[in-house]
Amino acid sequence: MNDSTPSITRRAAIKGMAIGAAATGTAVSGVDVVSAEENREVDIIVVGAGAAGSMAATHFAKAGKSVALLEANGRVGGRLKRGEIAGQSIDLGGQWVGPTQDRLIEVGKELGLNTFPTYVEGDMIIDVAGTIFKGLTLPGNVLGEYLRTVARINELASEIDPAQPWNAPHAEEWDSITMKTWATQNAETDHVRDLIRIIVEVVNCVPPEQMSLLQFLWYMKSGHSFQKVTDTAGGAQQDLYKECLVSVPELLAKALGDKVILDAPVHAIAQDDSQVTAMTAKGTWTAKRLVMAAPPTTAGNIDYTPELPYKRRGLMERSPMGAVIKCFIAYEKPFWRDAGLNGQSISSVSKFASTFDVTAPGNPRGVLCGFFDGGPAMEWADKSPEEREARAIEDIAHVLGPEANSPIEYVEQNWPREAWSTGGYACVPGPGVTSVFGDAIRQPCGRIHWAGTETSDVWSGYVDGALRSGDRVAEEVLAML
Ligand SMILES: Cc1cc2nc3c(=O)[nH]c(=O)nc-3n(C[C@H](O)[C@H](O)[C@H](O)COP(=O)(O)OP(=O)(O)OC[C@H]3O[C@@H](n4cnc5c(N)ncnc54)[C@H](O)[C@@H]3O)c2cc1C
Repeated sequence: MNDSTPSITRRAAIKGMAIGAAATGTAVSGVDVVSAEENREVDIIVVGAGAAGSMAATHFAKAGKSVALLEANGRVGGRLKRGEIAGQSIDLGGQWVGPTQDRLIEVGKELGLNTFPTYVEGDMIIDVAGTIFKGLTLPGNVLGEYLRTVARINELASEIDPAQPWNAPHAEEWDSITMKTWATQNAETDHVRDLIRIIVEVVNCVPPEQMSLLQFLWYMKSGHSFQKVTDTAGGAQQDLYKECLVSVPELLAKALGDKVILDAPVHAIAQDDSQVTAMTAKGTWTAKRLVMAAPPTTAGNIDYTPELPYKRRGLMERSPMGAVIKCFIAYEKPFWRDAGLNGQSISSVSKFASTFDVTAPGNPRGVLCGFFDGGPAMEWADKSPEEREARAIEDIAHVLGPEANSPIEYVEQNWPREAWSTGGYACVPGPGVTSVFGDAIRQPCGRIHWAGTETSDVWSGYVDGALRSGDRVAEEVLAML
């Protein structure tokens, strides 16, 4: 929990509720005292104004229900956040949209947003164990083995129903094997073993020893296939929004007006047979139903009365966020294009292990974005921005050439240190967790219903999945009111 979050015990939370209801105004150490005026009654409370919570609250408002969307931050968006570099608006969090992310594509169109393609003309650089390959020029045996490995991953993933990976025929066995062990046992060459490691880190933001085969296969199935998840053109990294992806929750929240309450971290939730109450630094809200659209990591820090079922608590405690630091580096011009490169790279020896050309059309500058992902992000989260900048530039120069040493601007977002997100792109249940605790993911707990990208069975971990979870939870709750 971050330093600014009020720390209260469950007992204090209950006292806090009583205070809110009775409006005694008596101070209780460590508990926010709220007045009767601050106690609001609505049909539904939604916690978290990311893509999922904003979508759910929009459905409730459209259905004529009263709703309060309580957001911990002083901004909406959660793992989506606006920034700027070299005169270009950028997404410091989620940014891409690709084919089959149909719900995001639909909502983007409804909101009047426009896309442009990620630059893909020319070769990408693949750096395996310090040997640099331009385009798909990997030695024949390595390329063949890599393609066979991808086919094997898709074949294994086809056994999994993305709505219930815990019931897959080999769920228990696959959940007890880490991706590192699987790669060691199944890859014939160090090159392919290295490539699997980079892919797990770039796609899931954890080192392969922290992710089970079951979780990895489920993630690929939820995104339709290995290729759909990892490809640029034709895959999840195909397009960017001119107005930025963060416009989605921003515009949804704007339409909700004063139903959105910022700077209102929920620190305790209590429910009984007739109502559910959320306590925040800005007062207490009471409702018939509550949607929790904060990620499992921060939702797990809230005090619940009565205590949540063991499986739900266990799932939240065992599902840490991946680690990612996203950096943008601007250059006078996109120098890599002159060398026949598309600015895309992955490297198994770099800390700043992947780059993409995300220059917006019409911008004469060259804008790269890239990531410290997984293990390197865990290692570099506590270093200074200056140290990260120096390392990122050194690593870009290694793959794209010495001109990378002369950037004009650097902007970064250190997600592991973002208090109400704790990392990204999504929570990754540890080995052995999904098969035992996974079925608690969407199971309502009394009046509390669960949303957020982690609860989606389609494009989980992505904004498309977050929006789908908002749709699903709204349907679930409206049917009960
Ligand atoms: C660096 C990075 C790159 C990414 N790239 C992509 C991409 O290219 N494409 C893509 O589709 N996805 C991408 N993602 C993932 C995507 O951003 C997320 O899947 C999505 O934004 C999650 O939305 P959500 O609403 O489920 O959760 P969140 O965005 O996490 O929203 C949850 C909200 O709850 C709030 N909250 C937390 N605790 C409390 C509390 N106690 N009380 C009140 N509020 C609380 C948070 O502040 C937050 O606003 C990326 C993520 C990151 C970090």
